[in-house]
Amino acid sequence: MKTLIKRYFNEYGFNPDNQTIDLFIKYADLLFEENKRVNLTALSGEKEIVVKHFLDSIIILKYRDLNGKKAIDLGTGAGFPGIPLKIMSPQMEITLVDSLKKRCLFLEKTIKELGFQSVMVKNERAENLGQNKDYRGSYDYSFSRAVANTRILLELHAPLLKVGGEMFLLKGPAIDEEIADAQNAARELGVELVDILRYELPEDYGQRTVAIYQKTLETPAKYPRRPGIPEKRPL
Ligand code: SAM
Repeated sequence: MKTLIKRYFNEYGFNPDNQTIDLFIKYADLLFEENKRVNLTALSGEKEIVVKHFLDSIIILKYRDLNGKKAIDLGTGAGFPGIPLKIMSPQMEITLVDSLKKRCLFLEKTIKELGFQSVMVKNERAENLGQNKDYRGSYDYSFSRAVANTRILLELHAPLLKVGGEMFLLKGPAIDEEIADAQNAARELGVELVDILRYELPEDYGQRTVAIYQKTLETPAKYPRRPGIPEKRPL
């Protein structure tokens, strides 16, 4: 596993030290072990986990340094992209959010075993956090991978960011239509598309994109709407 991490991370210009690599190996062991008990995430082999999950999660570090920043990962599941980003950015403060309790129990165990500081796990719907004054408007960065359509994600993310903060939506190759469909939502929520990163994962694991939006205005108080409404009636 160490060789795989070095090889594929180096290909993308990342040079993790031994301590960092050891944390990724420990995390992979926890994922494999948990996957035997419950079907946590679709995992097949070591190469897949290194490329499709670890590398895919950290690509945004080519764009932004997260150390010293406050971030939130909405719908993190087994910890993607939040945990790989935390391993690579130890000075980042991060909140990992998922509405499924079993995922959160795994995350709690993982952060303990990896010895992380400044990581909080929140078993909650993103819609509720967005209306909670302890969370609303407090983050520099937010992330989501494979959680929902862009129109829905904009409503879940925007309220949680500070004005000037950025959200990173990790997606597959077909993002252009989603972005076009999200124009009204972006206007309504006071966010602007600032960039789309496009890259190819090694070993034919496919094309990926990251849509980056910046919050430019305060989010109207009525957003996010109640849990389930953003999905049922996207803006
Ligand atoms: N981000 C992880 C990844 O890339 O492997 C998990 C993706 S999984 C397909 C989507 C996750 O989002 C699930 O664990 C689900 O419980 C969570 N989720 C979906 N909608 C949510 C919401 N409104 N608030 C919090 N979590 C949500």
